[in-house]
Amino acid sequence: MSRLPVMTSKRVLASSSSENSQDLAPAQKRMRKDQDVLKPHAAATVIGDRRPPAAAARAPLSKPIRGTGAATVALGPSRGVLKQAAASTAPKGTNVKQPPATKTGGTGAPRRQAWDLKGKVSDMECKIRNYQTKVRSVNEENEVLKDSMAQSRTKVTELEREVVRQKSQISEYETELQALSGVREELDKVSSERGFLKKELTNLEGKYKVMETLRDSLDTELQTLKMKMSVQESTMARLQATLRDTEEEVRSLKDTVAQQRDELHAGEMERRRLHNTIQELKGNIRVFCRVRPLVDGGLSKHIQLTPSDDKAIVLAKTEESHTGKTTDTQKNYNFSFDRVFGPQASQQEIFEEISLLVQSALDGYNVCCFAYGQTGSGKTYTMEGDEFDDTRGVIPRAVQQIFRASDKLGSQGWEFTFTASFVEIYNETLRDLLYTGKASKRPEHEIRKTAANDVTITNLTYEKVYTEDQVLGLIALAKQNRSTAQTAQNDRSSRSHSVFQLHIEGVNAGRDLRCKSTLCLVDLAGSERMVKSQSQGERFKEMTAINSSLSNLGIVIASLANKESHVPYRNSKLTYLLQGCLGGNSKTLMFVNISPEPDSFGETLNSLRFASKVNDCVIGTATSNRK
Ligand code: ADP
Ligand code: MG
Repeated sequence: MSRLPVMTSKRVLASSSSENSQDLAPAQKRMRKDQDVLKPHAAATVIGDRRPPAAAARAPLSKPIRGTGAATVALGPSRGVLKQAAASTAPKGTNVKQPPATKTGGTGAPRRQAWDLKGKVSDMECKIRNYQTKVRSVNEENEVLKDSMAQSRTKVTELEREVVRQKSQISEYETELQALSGVREELDKVSSERGFLKKELTNLEGKYKVMETLRDSLDTELQTLKMKMSVQESTMARLQATLRDTEEEVRSLKDTVAQQRDELHAGEMERRRLHNTIQELKGNIRVFCRVRPLVDGGLSKHIQLTPSDDKAIVLAKTEESHTGKTTDTQKNYNFSFDRVFGPQASQQEIFEEISLLVQSALDGYNVCCFAYGQTGSGKTYTMEGDEFDDTRGVIPRAVQQIFRASDKLGSQGWEFTFTASFVEIYNETLRDLLYTGKASKRPEHEIRKTAANDVTITNLTYEKVYTEDQVLGLIALAKQNRSTAQTAQNDRSSRSHSVFQLHIEGVNAGRDLRCKSTLCLVDLAGSERMVKSQSQGERFKEMTAINSSLSNLGIVIASLANKESHVPYRNSKLTYLLQGCLGGNSKTLMFVNISPEPDSFGETLNSLRFASKVNDCVIGTATSNRK
């Protein structure tokens, strides 16, 4: 037995069934790593020509285990002789116990005699036992391996599951990563925004600090103001109390004012009534005589004025005795007028009398003022005067008074409208003295009666005036217009009448009162008579026109005084134009201007006679144009 080679380290993988061996094949591959533990493996060598019965009954060995060592299955000689070559195939270095060689032939292998069948059998049995042992150990090992393989399978399944899980997790992570990359972009954006906001914050913080300082100062100011306000509030409370008292007082004062206004109005109406009664008592037509001073001052003897009597004037004519024996006879012509003004009488004195009539014009009465007398007697001086304050005549003074009085009446609710016109009557022809157009285009004028029995002149300038200066401007314009018409040979202004008219309309809306009147201021043409034989042509025509218009003025006044049914207004342009201002509804004032020179005696006598004729007229009681 000891001579039999024992191949302890050699093993033969044999599976119990072909089925198992097939299953095992992939498992073996998988287990390669596990088997590494079992290194070093020896080469498995199957010696012999017969397989062990157990193994032979099963499937033949499918594959030798490779990689760990060379496994050579050397089929032994069919006669059971173990070939030397087979033994030599064992790799060098492997731990093969060499059986003790029978020194039969120099090869080392035991060799039985051909006849030693028993020995051979015993060898074979020994071999079989060895194989059986080996098979058992291999089987055990196989079991162990199977176990470990099963474990490994489980592990593999687990690992596969794990892999699947990991994969799904990875895909999850990938999705997450993708999402995160979006988030990152956003984060970048946010961080840049944050930087910007930070800057802004710094900026705002700076501003905030400034605002804080400002707020502090405002706080202080507020405190001060609060204190001030509380002081003001208490003051205001006091003032409110005072205000209430004052309001009460104002109310009562307003009542008083209203009451006093009524009283004032009543007083004003009463004043008007009384004023106009006085004017009426004085006579609706009044004549004032005014004597011009001599050129070198003083007065000539033939005109005698009584200082104690301002109404009388005596014209004395001394007639020399024809025989020379008797003393000279003196013939006196006595005249009396409403007033006689001597050479010293100032323009102011003259106007005082007229101013009462101007007031009447504002009260709604028509007022007419004439200056009658020979050329050079002072008509224009009386009506217009000079430019200087003291020497201003009736027209500028009347205008001044009208505007001042209308202002005063304004506080009592009266509103006035003034319209001015200035017309010249020369040779019975009308000429607009306020005309400013081309001389060649001067229109012709006609006097027309309106429905309201007023008179209006066609194409005449009727200028609305609001101030005294405006009227003075118009008077200056009229003066200029007159001077352009006259020549050296023909002092036209003395040969024509000039008529200034101011139409007055007053409204007191609060008391529903109205008044309408006209103030006429007339500078008549020179009243001197000419010796007929001396006047020819144009001068004769002028004279006739003047004489007829002046005598007609006397006739009209007389007719009015006698209350005749027919008043010949239409007989001259002058009376026709002044129709509305003369008569029962008007107040008329005539100045008779006297030249003091002795050679004017005749004309003076004529003038005084004419004037006293007018003075004798008593025109019916005037009524105001009030509604
Ligand atoms: P009429 O217009 O009647 O022709 P004026 O008014 O032109 O007369 O007067 C003739 C002159 O006599 C003028 O130089 C004028 O200044 C002067 N005169 C007239 N009246 C007076 C007077 N009351 N005081 C001083 N000078 C006067
Ligand atoms: Mg004159």
